[in-house]
Amino acid sequence: MGSNKDIDLIEDGKRLDGRDFDELREISIDAGVLKRADGSAYLEWGKNKIMAAVYGPREMHPRHAQETTKAVVRARYNMAAFSVPDRKRPGPDRRSTEISKLVSEALEKVVFTENYPRSVIDVFIEVLQASAGTRCGGLTAASVALADAGIPMSDMVASCASGKIEGEVVLDLGKNEDNYGQADVPVGYIPRSDELCLLQMDGNLTQEEYEKAMEMSIDACKDIHEIQRGALRERYSTELQEEEITKASEGVE
Ligand code: ADP
Repeated sequence: MGSNKDIDLIEDGKRLDGRDFDELREISIDAGVLKRADGSAYLEWGKNKIMAAVYGPREMHPRHAQETTKAVVRARYNMAAFSVPDRKRPGPDRRSTEISKLVSEALEKVVFTENYPRSVIDVFIEVLQASAGTRCGGLTAASVALADAGIPMSDMVASCASGKIEGEVVLDLGKNEDNYGQADVPVGYIPRSDELCLLQMDGNLTQEEYEKAMEMSIDACKDIHEIQRGALRERYSTELQEEEITKASEGVE
């Protein structure tokens, strides 16, 4: 969060990209895009482009990291070197380690880990193009990839941030808003149980602003959840259609 004096972020009641205060950037999700992975999803969210792949449940290596009563959800968040205009130094850093940990913890809240003792469910999140909000995009895509892998879960996590720019509470901060705004609050939300599984805050909000931000984020997460469900519906309706076409072309009844 920088100083809000550096750049005008609101003009004529609209944000720089023309959005209303409570408007999301455009989001699209495709499920099942990687044939080799057990589950996968590709997400575009504004200018963010993110791939998520799931492998498992499979035996946990190293063995000392096994949990005897449950599976471990091991998320790894990575930003490609070419994902930002200034080349990002490849490899893990403090930020990616932190995001990997919080995504793992958020997903462990929904996956029925007790079904798979001593196992690991690997979740890879690769940010191909980054433009603010990649942890939310990564968590949202990872949830679809887990569902695509057929991993039993209580629900998919939907994730979104809201924050403050020029004294106004706004939804889903873009790159300039993230850089020059006053606060950014990413959340992970589980619609079915109406629970949060991720909550962070960068910057400061009053209690009233915080409540407004949460309301905006949760409403947006419900919309994002519909997009996630749509991606799965699309994937499986296409697969069923393909099966029908193959059967028909092979003359199978
Ligand atoms: P999030 O992507 O979840 O909003 P941050 O607030 O830490 O996470 O980062 C905001 C944005 O800053 C990122 O989406 C990305 O566009 C940019 N960014 C993050 N890390 C780097 C980096 N090492 N080099 C260049 N840009 C970065």
